[in-house]
Amino acid sequence: MPTTPTFAIVGAGLAGAKAAEALRAEGFDGRLVMLGEEAERPYDRPPLSKTYLRGEADRDSLYLHDACFYAAHNIELYTSARVRSIDPPGRRLQLASGERISYRRLLLATGAAPRRLRRPGADLDGIYHLRNRRDADRLVAALGRAARVVVVGTGWIGCEVAASVRQLGRDVTLVGPEAVPLARVLGPEIGCFYRNLHAEQGVRLALGTDVDAFRGDGRVEAVVTSDGRTLPCDLVLIGIGAIPRTELAEAAGIAGGDGVLVDEWLETIAPGVYAAGDVAAAWHPLLRTRLRVAHWANALHQGPVAARAMLGLPTRYEQLPSFFSDQYDVSMEYSGLATASDRVVVRGDPATRQFVAFWVRHQHVVAGMNVNVRDVAEPIQALIRSGRNVDLARLVDPDTPIKELADDDR
Ligand SMILES: Cc1cc2nc3c(=O)[nH]c(=O)nc-3n(C[C@H](O)[C@H](O)[C@H](O)COP(=O)(O)OP(=O)(O)OC[C@H]3O[C@@H](n4cnc5c(N)ncnc54)[C@H](O)[C@@H]3O)c2cc1C
Repeated sequence: MPTTPTFAIVGAGLAGAKAAEALRAEGFDGRLVMLGEEAERPYDRPPLSKTYLRGEADRDSLYLHDACFYAAHNIELYTSARVRSIDPPGRRLQLASGERISYRRLLLATGAAPRRLRRPGADLDGIYHLRNRRDADRLVAALGRAARVVVVGTGWIGCEVAASVRQLGRDVTLVGPEAVPLARVLGPEIGCFYRNLHAEQGVRLALGTDVDAFRGDGRVEAVVTSDGRTLPCDLVLIGIGAIPRTELAEAAGIAGGDGVLVDEWLETIAPGVYAAGDVAAAWHPLLRTRLRVAHWANALHQGPVAARAMLGLPTRYEQLPSFFSDQYDVSMEYSGLATASDRVVVRGDPATRQFVAFWVRHQHVVAGMNVNVRDVAEPIQALIRSGRNVDLARLVDPDTPIKELADDDR
């Protein structure tokens, strides 16, 4: 019998790596095992649709830690190691290789997988998804032979890939059912900003339409849209969202409809089992709702919070949802959680590509997005957290510091 407990982390991505780092930083000196099905140590995914795709960042720059970090911190990192099942009552897991590992605490940090589009021809060669570095490498290689690219999906991955591929000089068509890109998250007004941005960069937009079929003889040659267009192409990238990797949790009876259900300390209903990152649907104590936030900052911050819970030092996960996106020369950060019924007001002129949008509900700010405006994400978050009523004239006035609105007692 081991004298020190074993903590196991399934999923060697951002949330898993940050949890492992935090466990050691908090003084955990037991056995720490991290199991990842990918062939390499944890790396950052955001560059895959941006600098890495465009050849501006190399592979080494993606890694979250130096190669020696894991050994130096006595973290047993197993790559190409897929976990096949977990047994929460027995506190054991089994690898695809058949090996079993007993644990005292288990963190599920299995991330998400690209949603597939089931349409005739969807299995033709030349149709790609983007989730991991191997996908990115395949896409980069295929782009070398492609002149005309169709991107299906106007969410973050679709828009970022469309921007990068356009920056590489390819002919790009962006296809999606919404009237403007990113409409589901940003609404029609701010979605218009992104539609105009892509149009100005020469991206062809086939919006308000779906894909009916992919055509080609072995390899994709065209995308047929539901409004009757045929878009000739050499390559298709599908970016229509990602599905949480809940298969292990589901088989163990601890997953809900959209993710592994965890409380505000990131523990599941199975004692000793935790979840963090894209896979976790966590109760948010401030927003009083369950949220699965599939973005970088969430995985970054949830990993350490899960680590503390595993150590019996629970802290509530209270970060506001937030994410960033870079498209062409436009960098944005979004904080908070808006709904379609919230009112949007804008500080600055979107035509200058430098502005802050606020989503307002009953006179208080529920979300904010700064575009090419630096160092305001924290004040925006403070303003949202404050829950204060705001004067809309001051909110949109560029001369009123956002921090002042959060501190305002009036
Ligand atoms: C191309 C791309 C661009 C992005 N850009 C942005 C951006 O600009 N801004 C932003 O906010 N967010 C962005 N994101 C989202 C962000 O990268 C994710 O939210 C983050 O990576 C989630 O981290 P995670 O650790 O939860 O999951 P992941 O990073 O997906 O890691 C999970 C790991 O678990 C492994 N795994 C799954 N099941 C098993 C199993 N059974 N056994 C062993 N291993 C398993 C997976 O293979 C994977 O390696 C982007 C994502 C992608 C794909």
